[in-house]
Amino acid sequence: NMKPTTGTIRTTCAYCGVGCGVLATPEADGNVSIVGDPEHPANFGRLCSKGSALGETIGLEDRLLSPRVDGRLASWDEALERVASGFSRVIAEDGPDAVAFYVSGQFLTEDYYVANKLMKGFIGSGNIDTNSRLCMASSVAGHRRAFGADTVPGTYRDLEEADLVILVGSNLAWCHPVTYQRLAAAKAARPAMKIVLIDPRRTASAEIADMHLAIEPDGDTALFSGLLYAIAEGGAVHCDFVARHTEGFVDALRASRAFPVAKVAAATGLGEAEIRAFYDLFTAREKVVTVYSQGVNQSVGGTDKVNAIINCHLATGRIGRPGMGPFSITGQPNAMGGREVGGLANQLAAHMAIENPHDRALVGEFWQAPNIARKPGLKAVDLFRAVETGKVKAIWIAGTNPVVSMPDADRVKAALAACPLVVVSDVVSRNDTLPFAHVALPAAAWGEKDGTVTNSERRISRQRPFLPLPGEARPDWAIFAEVGRRMGFSGFDFTNAAEVFDEHARLSAYRNEGSRDFDIGGLAGLASDDYDALDPVQWPVKASDNEIGEKRFFADGRFYHPDGRARFVAVRAPVRETAANGEFVLNTGRVRDHWHTMTRTGRSARLSAHIAEPFAELHPEDGKQLGLKPADLVTIRSAHGSATVRCLFTKRQMRGSVFVPIHWSGEFAGTGRIDAVVRPSFDPISGQPGLKNTPVTLSRF
Ligand code: SF4
Repeated sequence: NMKPTTGTIRTTCAYCGVGCGVLATPEADGNVSIVGDPEHPANFGRLCSKGSALGETIGLEDRLLSPRVDGRLASWDEALERVASGFSRVIAEDGPDAVAFYVSGQFLTEDYYVANKLMKGFIGSGNIDTNSRLCMASSVAGHRRAFGADTVPGTYRDLEEADLVILVGSNLAWCHPVTYQRLAAAKAARPAMKIVLIDPRRTASAEIADMHLAIEPDGDTALFSGLLYAIAEGGAVHCDFVARHTEGFVDALRASRAFPVAKVAAATGLGEAEIRAFYDLFTAREKVVTVYSQGVNQSVGGTDKVNAIINCHLATGRIGRPGMGPFSITGQPNAMGGREVGGLANQLAAHMAIENPHDRALVGEFWQAPNIARKPGLKAVDLFRAVETGKVKAIWIAGTNPVVSMPDADRVKAALAACPLVVVSDVVSRNDTLPFAHVALPAAAWGEKDGTVTNSERRISRQRPFLPLPGEARPDWAIFAEVGRRMGFSGFDFTNAAEVFDEHARLSAYRNEGSRDFDIGGLAGLASDDYDALDPVQWPVKASDNEIGEKRFFADGRFYHPDGRARFVAVRAPVRETAANGEFVLNTGRVRDHWHTMTRTGRSARLSAHIAEPFAELHPEDGKQLGLKPADLVTIRSAHGSATVRCLFTKRQMRGSVFVPIHWSGEFAGTGRIDAVVRPSFDPISGQPGLKNTPVTLSRF
């Protein structure tokens, strides 16, 4: 166990993918003072409401402090034996694909690394997926198609330097507030900068937008296909860039010809004049950054949306240069770190591909792994379906709450209730998933954990502990490593987070340094003895790097496909769904001051004061037609389930749609678990569920 730390500790915020630096100072009275780190390049001292309230969320009330087996207190020894023997038995009887891990973008990179190594290298299955599947899997798939690897090309500074910033499916003001603050400050200093918001709702981000395109749900592929067509028609194609650095332009352009402005208007619900105005803005300005987030990713056509956006940047050569590029901004604090170690079911490790025999051989050799997984594992929705059908008989859920957050959440709940072995490791003693745990393992929380996270601009920062591990809590990486040892595997003798990171960094360079491949996530320049003092740094970091500065990919026009060229993708816009008579479109998302299922932010009275309970946001005319009055209780029903919340009328909402936040659960509001209503359809390429477009009916409770 660690001793409490005195003095100020430099660490990183626990919440979103902005990855703000935090200075935490434990006080004599047990409180912890939190301020933004003025030297951190993500935030330069700024924090949002959630980050500033971190100190209010670290008390030990409702913490899981001891292991439990079958609902009773147990020793670590008993609990770990139950997990190790239970998983080993299922593997012996039904094979490695009968077990699974479902982990979290809240994991530190070190946690992810060890869990991934255990499943893919030693158990021998690809069945480790993560709640990041719900966050940015479509961006990963889109990047791999276009660039040949999952790389975010740009930096936050590009947003400040752009002449046009397009926010697509991103309420940056509430979901990535410090990046929004930086953008707002840049626009205030340089009013000629234009900002376009593309979102069905007029969100808080509209405050700084010069143009808001209130697009119908999932109209983005049509809008950006039409933009590619307009770029070509307007003579704005960067012919030299396209010829020298890309493939597939002709096919993509041919596909885009299906989207003249009139067709785009029909597919998006936008007016032709506003579509033309947007296209003119894009073609007239060289420095364009297109920021996209969950409104793009959480869609049954999410990967095509990502590629439709990237196509426009490739066509104009606006990538790899200051102030321009497509920019996927991730939801979670370490979705990016998870991608780097291969924590998704369809990845391997260190940006290598599970389907590639050379990559498998290399990782297997480095790990000395007896049983490297040979094929991708089950992605989140399919994984819980496999639990339901009994194909997966043992699941370990770590740092996430799928009974609240998965679509069709009641079905996930029923699947877990019938699963022979459910292990849950978490920091809290109560959430909606824990009641299904045969074994509950107490994990270390923010402030106690030691490791690294990577933010949306590929910047690796340290999370450092400043509190002792409470009760019997242990870091996630240590729990997975101990289970690996008890299952009889070598290669899990880590004694601290630095050793885990060192192995991760060495794997990224193994037989690889000096090659083009090594640019993707290589960390050989980070020596293990620098770990404690590690300053925020963007990867790649080569051993030969004398100076570690800001890095932008593709400045040389070389991409990661074997021929060095980027790929246009001929995307297909989904057919616009027309709601049946009386049906509404359910859109889900976040609010400013809560995070995920509120297990942390729900502890702060200050954060809960912003919005105290879940709500259904409707256009006032729709409310009137339904005979609802403000604050009436309304039941939202789909083919999958129902939720009952208060209604809120605003003109921010378009007619025919209803927005409900995702955060509230059985623990916080028994009837507001909205993901029980959301349909489990997903993008066939990325496996990411479409969480923002479910047909529902509404009725007064
Ligand atoms: Fe934390 Fe994100 Fe807020 Fe920064 S913007 S303080 S990382 S929640």
